[in-house]
Amino acid sequence: MKTLTILGSTGSIGQCALDVVRAHPGRFQVKILTAHENVARLAAQAREFDASKAVIGRDGLLEDLKAALSETDIECAAGEQALIEAASQPSDICVAAIVGMAGLRPMLSAIRNSRCVAIANKEPLVSAGPLVLKTARESGCTLLPLDSEHNAVFQGFDPRAHKSGSINRLILTASGGPFRTWSLEKISSATVEQALAHPNWSMGKKISVDSATMMNKGLEIIEAARLFNMPGKKIDVLIHPQSFIHAMVEYSDGSILAQLGAPDMRTPIAHVLGWPDRIATPGRRLDLPDFVRMDFELPDDTRFPALRLAYDSLEAGLPACIALNAANEVAVESFLDRHLPFGSIIPCVRECLEEDIAALSADPSLEEILSLDLDIRARARHIILRCSDKHSISDKKAAILS
Ligand code: NAD
Ligand code: MG
Repeated sequence: MKTLTILGSTGSIGQCALDVVRAHPGRFQVKILTAHENVARLAAQAREFDASKAVIGRDGLLEDLKAALSETDIECAAGEQALIEAASQPSDICVAAIVGMAGLRPMLSAIRNSRCVAIANKEPLVSAGPLVLKTARESGCTLLPLDSEHNAVFQGFDPRAHKSGSINRLILTASGGPFRTWSLEKISSATVEQALAHPNWSMGKKISVDSATMMNKGLEIIEAARLFNMPGKKIDVLIHPQSFIHAMVEYSDGSILAQLGAPDMRTPIAHVLGWPDRIATPGRRLDLPDFVRMDFELPDDTRFPALRLAYDSLEAGLPACIALNAANEVAVESFLDRHLPFGSIIPCVRECLEEDIAALSADPSLEEILSLDLDIRARARHIILRCSDKHSISDKKAAILS
């Protein structure tokens, strides 16, 4: 039996991971489940999988969690510190599925103490990739890419060929999101509901908006650079609206290895949970008759400028990557709160990148990284305020600054 911790078990990835666990009785022993504020779902999961511990991120919800888990011997805890502490309990595999930089500290804690950490939570790789990788090297933890594109690369990536310089490039595919065929003008005034209606994938809100701006692919370029030690110029993006191919690895001999699968996260999750064995997915499978057609297009930088911003940030270095991610998290949250128009998300990120960004030491500590991340968040909020003034929604200022 593999012991398992899921950080962010109530989210889209967390629930898919538990679907895989449910399909394999006797293979996994669920130790720890964590969530931010959904007490009812966390408690139901902890009961169903007989977890040893359930942790809720919001401090004030401890009594609710205890009440929901009364008459069980499941240990309950609450607050950020409890989350980090729970993540430090050794597991055979920990699934890092919190959204955003909020997942960084628990992820590091898991990496220091677990044998394997399967990473869905891409933002910490973008903003603290070198620290995450160094921590894994020092503790001997194996990092398994769970994001579908990176999991696909992982399956087709020959480290020996990489060492000898025989991998020409990685090709990450992108569905193009809900606005792939929309005009720039129509995209600019897209509503929250339209941005959340992804054509192929069912995901959490933040990543759905990131897919609509294509910042998700931008973050994934940086994620791939970190995980596979590849420069940005060797990482290409190709629009593939059917989402059957998740990524390709091109070798110097002209071979291109592609990983195919239904657009269902339970395939990469089954891959990392079973690794190094293969276990069955309870999710959708790709049948040959699905291949009515496969299309490919180059991304359009004019309608989707996020990709260029990500390449430039990767080239510029870690502080720019931190700024890209932090500004994007704030702008997306403001859009979801209906304080910022869709068309202002990427301009806000760009403006944050255009101002001076503090330098970091060569081997920045967690505190240095988090301090720059906080500064950029404050900067992004001020830019959004100015933008809201232009759009005469200044009555929402207090909410933005809070
Ligand atoms: P989600 O919003 O559905 O779930 C997020 C989870 O994190 C929830 O369990 C929530 O309770 C928890 N959480 C949120 N804020 C938190 C905080 N401040 N402290 C502690 N816990 C917190 O998100 P998701 O779609 O499951 O995505 C999770 C991560 O995986 C993201 O980084 C995303 O980019 C990545 N990812 C998601 C998918 C997908 O298909 N959903 C695919 C690839 C990668
Ligand atoms: Mg992805």
